[in-house]
Amino acid sequence: MRFAVGLAKDNVEERLEAHGLSRRDFLKYCGVVAAAMGLGPSFAPEIARALTTGRRTTVVYLHNAECTGCTEALLRTSDPFLDVLLFDAISLEYQETIMAAAGHAAEEVLHKAIADPNGFVCIVEGAIPTAQKGIFGKVGNRTMLEINNEVLNHANCKAVISYGTCAAFGGVQAAKPNPTEAKGILQVFPKLAPKTINIPGCPPNPINLVGTIVYYLQNNGAIPKLDDKNRPELFYGQSVHELCERLPHFEAGEFAESFNSEEARKGWCLYNLGCKGPMTYNNCPKVKFNGTSWPVAAGHPCIGCSEPDFWDQMSPFYG
Ligand code: SF4
Ligand code: SF4
Repeated sequence: MRFAVGLAKDNVEERLEAHGLSRRDFLKYCGVVAAAMGLGPSFAPEIARALTTGRRTTVVYLHNAECTGCTEALLRTSDPFLDVLLFDAISLEYQETIMAAAGHAAEEVLHKAIADPNGFVCIVEGAIPTAQKGIFGKVGNRTMLEINNEVLNHANCKAVISYGTCAAFGGVQAAKPNPTEAKGILQVFPKLAPKTINIPGCPPNPINLVGTIVYYLQNNGAIPKLDDKNRPELFYGQSVHELCERLPHFEAGEFAESFNSEEARKGWCLYNLGCKGPMTYNNCPKVKFNGTSWPVAAGHPCIGCSEPDFWDQMSPFYG
């Protein structure tokens, strides 16, 4: 797969074709995104328009303290459109994991991108270490704290997407005793709340990122309605429990008591095995990962990974 960082801003459909992808398949994919956004299949052409027309929004993608699992999940998705669209429908100027440039050249790319007079969107992955003025996390000899402060508070930064639970809420780095005092973006920069969208999950479903970008493009830079944790209600408006296919068994009082049991295989509820679905807001049962499955369907309890402090608050993970 070839990524379009640095490609000329030509026609998106032509570039999709260059990747061997047909318009028909593209529309089918847009239908999947529409469904994740709670829209019917008839909205697929509108989604396609949002992704293929208009000026491509400049995007910079910062990495902080994390495992890079969010980027890995994004790049390794089985859906061929996800990565192509993310890198073709937007103008991704800076992404440390996949960009060819390094060192001073990379720094130049970043500074050029954030100087775009039309503004830019910043996607952030990873938490920011704040102890001792941020010295526990550096890129190019500058602390992540300094870099994020410069980029996210830049006058040209139109929106911030905190992608993954680390960026949204601190994630694993912030688990007790949190020696680096790692924090989520809004914990460090609370004033950014009006323009920040949290897409938590460990990792999040890439469809939720694409859907957020589609909404942003369709609505001239407006951000979707958010819940009290800055998560888009479109994707995080219902609990995992409400959407779970094992819910009828929960309601019937049918609980599996061990993983290797006939009841677990028959689809009985995993609550007694530690499932945190009732306390967790996300659309995993509806959207599934790579459109195929999700943890509870595979027989593993939900561990609450899209909630703040889930490492501390949701453990023990197994009942
Ligand atoms: S949210 Fe999870 S998958 Fe993403 S970077 Fe953090 S630890 Fe890794
Ligand atoms: S398996 Fe979990 S999410 Fe599903 S019904 Fe049981 S408690 Fe709820």
